[in-house]
Amino acid sequence: MRTILLGPPGAGKGTQAARIVEAYHVPHISTGDILRANVAAGTPLGAEAKRFMDAGDLVPDDVIIGMVGDRLAEPDAAAGFLFDGFPRTVPQAEALDGLLSERGAPLDVVLELVVDQDEVIRRLTGRKTCSACGRIYQVESDPPETEGVCDACGGELEQRADDTEDVVRNRLEVYRDQTEPLVAFYDARGELRRIEAVGTMDAVTARAMETLEQVAGPPTS
Ligand code: AMP
Repeated sequence: MRTILLGPPGAGKGTQAARIVEAYHVPHISTGDILRANVAAGTPLGAEAKRFMDAGDLVPDDVIIGMVGDRLAEPDAAAGFLFDGFPRTVPQAEALDGLLSERGAPLDVVLELVVDQDEVIRRLTGRKTCSACGRIYQVESDPPETEGVCDACGGELEQRADDTEDVVRNRLEVYRDQTEPLVAFYDARGELRRIEAVGTMDAVTARAMETLEQVAGPPTS
């Protein structure tokens, strides 16, 4: 299965991606997670990316495209992939086309998670992430049992530096200007499927899985 999850920040891409890859056994490739790991490890790539990320701006295309090329060259990506947060610009989508055609492995589908802006602001400003295992909580709709502590591993929950209201507004503007054109880009090629990303997380997962089954076949057990 070769799939992209498209949608604004806060649409639930990370949560849905984690569930989909568990069923389909392909790597979940989140460029945001790779960048955050580089920032945490203090690599030169992390140092370069951090100022863009903290402001909610996009990291330059050449940096991202190089990073994704390296990731796709890893053996586990031969089975397919689910991209989360990539591509985010038309040049990134074109570069991905090039990488996939070199491999003779075209995309199956691009799933767009559709959600309105007020809902996204509410979700992101109330989002908490476990600093140890990365599990995502939402203070209103999906709180941990004990405030500030991860149910799964006991790690400390923190707010991402880019989930404050000002930065969230900028990230949404960046999405509209630079990423939303990808909806038309993939739709024109007949590769786009839209999914309403409202209701419970389980309901959204069920819609996503139904669409994936139609285009990529049922998950392998
Ligand atoms: P995310 O976790 O996907 O919301 O990404 C967090 C931040 O990482 C974004 O606001 C960008 O600064 C950066 N980032 C992640 N993926 C990309 C990408 N494909 N292109 C450019 N910047 C990215």
